[in-house]
Amino acid sequence: MSTSVAAPQGAIAVPPLNLAAGFAAQEQELIAELTAIAKSGQYILGPKTAAFEQALAQYCHAKHALGMSSGTDAHLAGLMAMGIGPGDEVIVPAFTFFATAGCVARVGAKPVFCDIDPVTYNMCPKHAESLITPRTKAISPVHLYGQLADMKALMALGARRKLPVIEDAAQAIGAHQDGVGWAGAIGHFGWLSFYPTKNLGAMGDAGALLTNDDAFMQLCTKVRIHGSGHTYHHEMVGGNFRIDAIQAALLHIKLRRLEEVTLRRREKAQGYTRRFAAAGLEGEFVQTPREVFGRHVYHQYILRAKRRDELAAHLKERQIGCGVYYPVPLHLQKCFAYLGGREGQLPESERASREVLGLPIYPELSDAQQDAVVEAIAGFYRR
Ligand SMILES: *Cc1c(COP(=O)(O)O)cnc(C)c1O
Repeated sequence: MSTSVAAPQGAIAVPPLNLAAGFAAQEQELIAELTAIAKSGQYILGPKTAAFEQALAQYCHAKHALGMSSGTDAHLAGLMAMGIGPGDEVIVPAFTFFATAGCVARVGAKPVFCDIDPVTYNMCPKHAESLITPRTKAISPVHLYGQLADMKALMALGARRKLPVIEDAAQAIGAHQDGVGWAGAIGHFGWLSFYPTKNLGAMGDAGALLTNDDAFMQLCTKVRIHGSGHTYHHEMVGGNFRIDAIQAALLHIKLRRLEEVTLRRREKAQGYTRRFAAAGLEGEFVQTPREVFGRHVYHQYILRAKRRDELAAHLKERQIGCGVYYPVPLHLQKCFAYLGGREGQLPESERASREVLGLPIYPELSDAQQDAVVEAIAGFYRR
């Protein structure tokens, strides 16, 4: 965030993130673990990773979890293990982080862009169904911002059309819906990201693959190390998708606090929503997030705002962190121009890219900071 603009006198600055505070909350344990690993000489995979994977699978209600070098690599490894490649199509939402579609293109398959539901910002099951062709190999919803997509409808669609559903749960660890399941462990496989800003963040890049399928887990374990079950004997072409022992061990410690972190994120989200209603902003000027499909874990707190760009500039001038996730839908990205996407094709994805604004949300956010954020937004619409 820019520090060149001074906040007005007496005003409270609200940084977009506070990763150091998350470290401080468990500093002694984390430092002790770093030292132990440094001394152990086992720096990649190993027993620390196996212990983390077991705890992670349990937390996520998945049969298996595999630690990976990033969320992107977990996704890529899963696609490789499924044998998805040239001539295949995978249906992905147009409104998401790039990696959801980038991995599909990297294995040589075609990402087919689906529009979103305007309330949850997630894949619209009806539109997804209309995009199925004989070449479709998977339906790939994202649980954007920490809320499950309509998995009941999507799993029913997959069952009806005999297509696997694969889940981008990078932003949604711990999201779940009664009778449906937990993020990443509902479909054929799912992936989590532990990028430092995610709800469970590493001190570098890391991710995980989740699945309930024993044979698929075996396959992904091989893909993670260049397709070898046995050292130097390669049954297929994989990659180096291994997780560092340091990241796995630190994540294992942070996982113990994740439920508390999630509850605090939910409190902060409710605190914003309450304040927007009290200030008379809800409906007329902004729309606050809706919790539709089970427990939302609020990786982001997303407003839909009229005059979004002006509002974002107003907040940044007042040293209030905010961010646009995401300003360009994927069908309009330059690198996907070869797929023939055009403006007007996916109206809800395009409208979301013009209207969404993420506000600071983390466990350490104070009441005074939340007041300052809502005050600043009220000030903008009062002008
Ligand atoms: C963060 C993220 C990813 C990628 O995860 P990395 O660990 O950064 O590779 C994929 N999809 C979504 C929706 C994400 O937010």
